[in-house]
Amino acid sequence: MRQAGLHFLQIPGPSAVPGRILRAISAQTIDHRGPDFATVGKRALDGLKTIFRTDEHVIIYPASGTGAWEAALVNTLSPGDRVLMFETGHFATLWKKIAEKLQLKAEFIEGDWRGGADPDQIEARLAADKGHEIKAVCVVHNETSTGSVSPIAAVRKAMDAANHPALFMVDTISGLASLDYRHDEWGVDVTVSGSQKGLMLPPGISFNAVSKKALAAHKTAKLQRSYWDWADMLGPNATGYFPYTPSTNLLYGLNEAIDMLHEEGLENVFARHARHGTAARAAVRHWGLEVLCTQQGQESGVLTAVLMPEGHSADQFRASTLKHFNISLGNGLSKVADRVFRIGHLGDFNDLMLVATLAGVEMGLKKAGVPHSPGGVGAAMEVLHDLELKDMAAE
Ligand code: PLP
Repeated sequence: MRQAGLHFLQIPGPSAVPGRILRAISAQTIDHRGPDFATVGKRALDGLKTIFRTDEHVIIYPASGTGAWEAALVNTLSPGDRVLMFETGHFATLWKKIAEKLQLKAEFIEGDWRGGADPDQIEARLAADKGHEIKAVCVVHNETSTGSVSPIAAVRKAMDAANHPALFMVDTISGLASLDYRHDEWGVDVTVSGSQKGLMLPPGISFNAVSKKALAAHKTAKLQRSYWDWADMLGPNATGYFPYTPSTNLLYGLNEAIDMLHEEGLENVFARHARHGTAARAAVRHWGLEVLCTQQGQESGVLTAVLMPEGHSADQFRASTLKHFNISLGNGLSKVADRVFRIGHLGDFNDLMLVATLAGVEMGLKKAGVPHSPGGVGAAMEVLHDLELKDMAAE
């Protein structure tokens, strides 16, 4: 049956695509080798640098984030190389599985899925690697399965403190354009990201931002690569073109998205996400439910993962809220399947959308008979009000 009114797509990506971007994407596809394309391609390649905060190259692939994960590894490493990864959650685990399929020796520092990567443990492991066998450290910035953020600048410091030459690779697929991110300043060698989260685009393109050190590693890296080869991209990219057919219409959308982010101001975008995260957590705590991330200061502004009370199915709850209130919430993945639901509050999102989202969750809890104390939405509204006053006082 048709459901009237807005569908609330509150999964932690893909995020809802704003009308301005949909309209940009709907322009006619043009010849990607013709004279007009160079302007589109150049604008996207240069514009992305301002989002990744880098003066280095950003590669654009017509692929989902998984492709950009693989690209980061195959362009820089050789078979049998050891990579150190941190088990922040489901997505860190998937990246490790790709590394293993590529015949890298992937080593996990185990985590409990309730916080970000721990720089101290990374430093200790690197300091013990006297022979510099570890060729890369891979960390997920915003772990979308848990709602925890890894302290990327601190991991860089840990690598420097251990005086270790490994490459530093970061997945900010769900962090970019929502959370503060600085590819150059934080000394990241390969940053992996995607279109369908903070960039507000549909799924379909993904990125590698690449440092000079990563480009140097690429020259001697022996893993097989063809589609993902940075070298094939960089030549045509210099004039705004691509070696094979790019996602032309998504590039129109990307250029619009970059304009929108700068019109709002990146700092304001980050503050908005942080404020919505704080308000969402206030609602969850008021309901008497548990936020999955327990590391203070590492809670995500992109999403909030919520633990269901014992004996209640997160998936049944989500199915019920979808049916009754036309809202899609994120599911619990692998280890936390059916134990957790995730509230996305990212992308083109404002206070009223957050309040409506939380109202959907609260009404859903009641409908599904999940024990909670009503009034979480009000608690979130108080936080939104207080934080706005604090921001105004700071201006
Ligand atoms: N890494 C993170 C942190 C993600 O959130 C996702 C997808 O949600 C991926 C990697 C995989 O990206 P994709 O599903 O676009 O291939």
